[in-house]
Amino acid sequence: MPTVNLNYGKLKNSYLFANIAERVNAYSALHPEQHLLRLGIGDVTQPLTPSVIAALHEAVDMQSRSDTFHGYMSECGYAPLRSAIAGYYRQRNVILKDSEVFVSSGASDELGDILHLFERSLDVILMEPAYPAYADANVMDGRMIHYMDASDANGFTPPPPQESFQALIYICSPNNPTGAVFTRDLLKQWVDYANQTGSVILFDAAYEVFISEADIPRSIYEIEGAKTCAIEISSLSKTAGFTGTRCGYTVIPEELVRDDMNLNAMWVRNRTTRTNGVSFIVQHGALAVFSDRGQKEVQELLSVYRMNAKNFMKALDEAGLKYFGGRNSPYIWMKCPDGMSGWETFDRLLEQAQIIGTPGEGFGKCGAGWFRFSMFADQKDIEKAGSRIGAVLK
Ligand code: PLP
Repeated sequence: MPTVNLNYGKLKNSYLFANIAERVNAYSALHPEQHLLRLGIGDVTQPLTPSVIAALHEAVDMQSRSDTFHGYMSECGYAPLRSAIAGYYRQRNVILKDSEVFVSSGASDELGDILHLFERSLDVILMEPAYPAYADANVMDGRMIHYMDASDANGFTPPPPQESFQALIYICSPNNPTGAVFTRDLLKQWVDYANQTGSVILFDAAYEVFISEADIPRSIYEIEGAKTCAIEISSLSKTAGFTGTRCGYTVIPEELVRDDMNLNAMWVRNRTTRTNGVSFIVQHGALAVFSDRGQKEVQELLSVYRMNAKNFMKALDEAGLKYFGGRNSPYIWMKCPDGMSGWETFDRLLEQAQIIGTPGEGFGKCGAGWFRFSMFADQKDIEKAGSRIGAVLK
């Protein structure tokens, strides 16, 4: 009998970011005078907003006084924060009980931890290109993954498969890396598929706040029937600059039942056993995001990334380059011109324009020949990149 989880041996080594770093370092060593335009990484560049900073300071002070000190927090989340998040959903006519909202340390943690609720023999449906952690977390558990091609042909938003089978289905909208968004009609098809097959959708809403078109759903629960088949995982990382501060939330409706087991109750049991919750200081800071002032500040913060996207899309349009995303997403997914691979495009952009992006090959086989630009970048860098790209890729 093995002692350790041998599935770890089945993980593919990801050389993507190591490979990028190696090429960038080699270039910088030869050209130390060149300023590099960094549009590669999906980490935010704007700091936390003033009301969040004030709340974090206040929380630290509260921890210094016995009358306001907090010890262990509720494992499922600080009650005022759960309530504020439920209020945030109500603005879009999604009615949730506070007890259906769980505060987390971020979407990554939840995307891994939530798998504990599911049988290892349950298959997974994964649309690629995809955020690499989806596949890796399931390979670690030994689940069988059915890959579906998200491609140019289906706007990177594929419909459900013809065959009916029970699975754990990942949907990420707005998508990382493609920036594509699932329409209401398409999400309804997936929700119907999941309810008919007894599947469960894991809906990754980490980028919901970037949706600007009115009729694109920001939550899976905007779709009728979703409460009986979907878990939504979201995060303040990209919404409010919490990548290094760490706070997110997960919604598990009470109506979600499989094998006569209630998944909300199972998750309460899981959390009360496997975590002692998120730090009070962080949750108090997160609460400020949902205040009126906090929401206004978040919109100002996001306007930087939105403006980046607008300027960069204009540059791509002028250069006649084809792309997805950007409108409802901080990512722009460009088709590499002249049949170049993502890596060839990477080298050309680095050497001739000092632009760093991410080759689509890093997000699965359907990413080949595509290239991701992140709009979480410095405004001046975006302007420079926009002014150079046409000349090197035309
Ligand atoms: N989901 C997607 C699609 C992401 O792109 C990311 C981070 O880049 C995450 C989840 C993880 O977010 P968090 O910082 O909340 O762990």
